[in-house]
Amino acid sequence: MAGSKLSTRPKEITFDGRMHIIWHDGAHTIYNYWDLRTACPCASCVDELTGEKVLDDNSVPKEIHPVKSAYIGNYALEILWSDDHNTGIYTFQKLRDEYPHSTAAI
Ligand SMILES: [Zn+2]
Repeated sequence: MAGSKLSTRPKEITFDGRMHIIWHDGAHTIYNYWDLRTACPCASCVDELTGEKVLDDNSVPKEIHPVKSAYIGNYALEILWSDDHNTGIYTFQKLRDEYPHSTAAI
């Protein structure tokens, strides 16, 4: 895949109570569902013009979890959440760099 950095290409994405991404450069990042859901970048969670967050975190159930997920091209992940929210597009670049996560030892 020319032009695509190894560090922003997921090799494997798994769900076991948290979301795990193993990247092509060998890194392993871990995301809490609630943190990821409340970081949703879509137009109903973040005001497109001001960039201000409009989602009320308290409206997101603590037991939130992904119902299904799908790759969008080779640049992003779309997640259908258990609160029926599915408009968030999580780009791999931001999953790697911006969204709250922890890093597992390799
Ligand atoms: Zn959203």
